[in-house]
Amino acid sequence: MEPNATTPVQVRLDAHPVDRDDAVRSAGALLVQAGFCDAAYVDSLLRREQVATTWLGQGVAIPHGMVEDKGLVRRTGLAVLQVPQGVAWGSAGRPVQLVVAIAAASDEHIAVLRRLTRLMRDERRIAQLVRTPRAEDIVAALTSDSAPEAGALPAQDFARGLDLTLNYPNGLHARPAGQWAQLAARFQAALRVRHGDAVADAGNVAALLSLGAGRGAALRLSAEGPDADAALAALRELVQRLGDEETRQAGQAAARQAQAQGLGRLLGDWQPAARQTVCGIAASPGLVIGTLVSAEAATLEVADAHLGIAEEAARLDRALNAAAAQIHALAEQARAQGRTEQAGIFDAHAQLLRDGALLREVSRLVVQAHGAAWAWRHVLSGRVAAQRALPDATLAARAADLQDVGERVLRHLLGRGDEAGTDPSAWPRDALLLADDLSPSVTAQIDVQRVKGFCTARGGPTAHTAILARALGLPAVVAAGPGLLQLPPGERAILDGYRGRLHIAPTEAALGEARALIDRLARHQAEEAASRLQPATTTDGHTLEIAANVNRADQVPRALEQGAEGVGLMRTEFLFLERDHVPGEDEQFGVYQAMVQALGGRPLIVRTLDIGGDKQVPHLNLPAEENPFLGVRGARLCLQRDDLLLPQLRALVRAAQTGPLSIMFPMISTVDEVRRLKARLAEVQRALGLTGTAIPVGIMIEVPSAARLADRLAPHVDFFSIGTNDLTQYTLAVDRQHPQLAGMADSLHPAVLRLVADTVTGARRHGRWVGVCGGLAGEPLGAALLAGLGVQELSMSVGDLGAIKALLRRHGLAELQDLARQALDMDDGEQVRALGARLRSAAEGV
Ligand code: PEP
Ligand code: MG
Repeated sequence: MEPNATTPVQVRLDAHPVDRDDAVRSAGALLVQAGFCDAAYVDSLLRREQVATTWLGQGVAIPHGMVEDKGLVRRTGLAVLQVPQGVAWGSAGRPVQLVVAIAAASDEHIAVLRRLTRLMRDERRIAQLVRTPRAEDIVAALTSDSAPEAGALPAQDFARGLDLTLNYPNGLHARPAGQWAQLAARFQAALRVRHGDAVADAGNVAALLSLGAGRGAALRLSAEGPDADAALAALRELVQRLGDEETRQAGQAAARQAQAQGLGRLLGDWQPAARQTVCGIAASPGLVIGTLVSAEAATLEVADAHLGIAEEAARLDRALNAAAAQIHALAEQARAQGRTEQAGIFDAHAQLLRDGALLREVSRLVVQAHGAAWAWRHVLSGRVAAQRALPDATLAARAADLQDVGERVLRHLLGRGDEAGTDPSAWPRDALLLADDLSPSVTAQIDVQRVKGFCTARGGPTAHTAILARALGLPAVVAAGPGLLQLPPGERAILDGYRGRLHIAPTEAALGEARALIDRLARHQAEEAASRLQPATTTDGHTLEIAANVNRADQVPRALEQGAEGVGLMRTEFLFLERDHVPGEDEQFGVYQAMVQALGGRPLIVRTLDIGGDKQVPHLNLPAEENPFLGVRGARLCLQRDDLLLPQLRALVRAAQTGPLSIMFPMISTVDEVRRLKARLAEVQRALGLTGTAIPVGIMIEVPSAARLADRLAPHVDFFSIGTNDLTQYTLAVDRQHPQLAGMADSLHPAVLRLVADTVTGARRHGRWVGVCGGLAGEPLGAALLAGLGVQELSMSVGDLGAIKALLRRHGLAELQDLARQALDMDDGEQVRALGARLRSAAEGV
């Protein structure tokens, strides 16, 4: 695909983040507000920084989400935070002044990366962008091709060379480019890569990115020097091998997207044939066929008639009171129907009526001999325009609320207070409303028997109108542009609220396809909704406990809503990673207690600190290790550092007095570690005088020695939770973060599954239960096999809950046991996957 030069860019000027994470969060919030991605993508941006810094050079950083979270991207876009004072980035603390956060659906952003890396060669230009008070300068620099080409190589290949096509689904992005550069450094020969007219030194990551090589790009590799042929052959081999890897990862990302977006993915690449397709932002999911209807309220005629100051003031007063009473009644009605979100929006409208500055401005005009209605409209329209112009998309979207309240008061001022803004009774029974920016009042009162969805020219996915659409279950597309209002009412159309499209005048064939898809969606929707809050009971009556991996109390409500029955893994190292200091006992107690409260009596498993390996905490100043994954990590560190372990245990013991809480120790590899950790816990309980409450204690099984010794470990603990991420890396001797070996870190490998089986056998011998909180629990085939192997609890990312529950409810335990038995006898993960094809309906997800 050709890189798209029109990637939308959001800019926040003169930002003052306190640290890198704050900067990443702010930039992420801009992406979310603009509708480029789901809110959960912000966590993904933060996780990426934990794994690898996104510092690019020259004061520029490019936060981007994890590959597996691509499903959270709705459309490609960028958010730039201009930080003139700079913010320290990563453990090296390098200053960053332009934070360019990327939400990339596929490879459209490569063109932007190319410009960015070209820009970086021009220090003056970067310095100017860091100071400019005009967001347009930054947008133009990233989206127009006028960026200087300083330092570009002459577009010339070396004599020896070869051609190849880039088979990377997401184009040449930073991670593979880094590997190309590493390879180039191993040879004496100079290596070049040409894409079109642009040539880059293969050893220079920025130059490689500046090629803007998207998927399918035709590249010329050339080399000069003593080992030129070997270098070329090695680079070709690497490019191709990474291509396979990238394709595999893209496939996994697509599968995750399938789970995250659930139903929407059933649409796949469906492109209905239609006379015209209007694209906007998906604001509320759903697919419907309907008839276009203009929902624009007729403009109210307002003459500037003045009946005297006292009379106009009294009219204004009466209108305000009447509007307030109407809004109050609407809020109460919504509350009575249990629609609290809607009620809240009307409460906010009531607040807008109490805006003293607005009333003063209107009164001033009335005193100047203007009619109250004219004055009200004059002041309100100025306010609405100003609100709409705000750079913050969420705030700008609130213009619709202001307009809504304004119109309501105006109708009362004109003696038409009982009229609605538009006349819904005239609408057909399959209305697809078209409006400039539908007001929350109209949206809230939509008769869902009559209205099937709507599309607005303005607005944003976070506007109240969009929130209400989601609450009403109506598909909606917003920000579709002013052309929308020119569309002829009465026309048939298909509204796609999953992907933000309106297809006007579709062909009969397209309508047929749409109907079939709508049926399929309805079936899947019914199935997922029915099973999400149901227990994960197999068709033969065996129930697995399904929990979520959640680190913060504010994430608990969403987890519960998605079907979590508890929290199976709270990773506490984030408490340390998110701060620049070691959190004290009281600070930790507050966090654990909040978690217990948020869960309201449901189970909570808190894992003690698992620092080391990939989770480095700079402020702990731990000595660097040759092999951190095999070094002083997790429980080993805690046993060496009472100053870290004891405050955490004290906080946990205290929090366990307030509700269910189990303690889990990570990275256990010997029985002796468990004995010593339990002794420490008992000392803490005694010292606190809190021995009365029995606190369940478990350990993570993530090292092969622990899995093999499960029967020896079981008597010392209450439960096991298998960390398949680490168990995989330690079993297969593959660094879980290794960019080249990622494909080998396969948790479905029979060697890993056999260790799971060992763990279950060892636990059963002593009547202990086994859970899994590693990534395998959230993969459809993984969950099926784990259930078949006898695991009793699965704890996973919130986005995976619905699909996994639905899957387990579709199969019998006996069937899964049979599958698991066969999987243990396979050669590798690929064979296990082939076996899993039997569960195809499951792997398709819901
Ligand atoms: C695991 O290793 O599977 C696990 C859940 O722990 P973490 O990913 O935090 O190392
Ligand atoms: Mg682990």
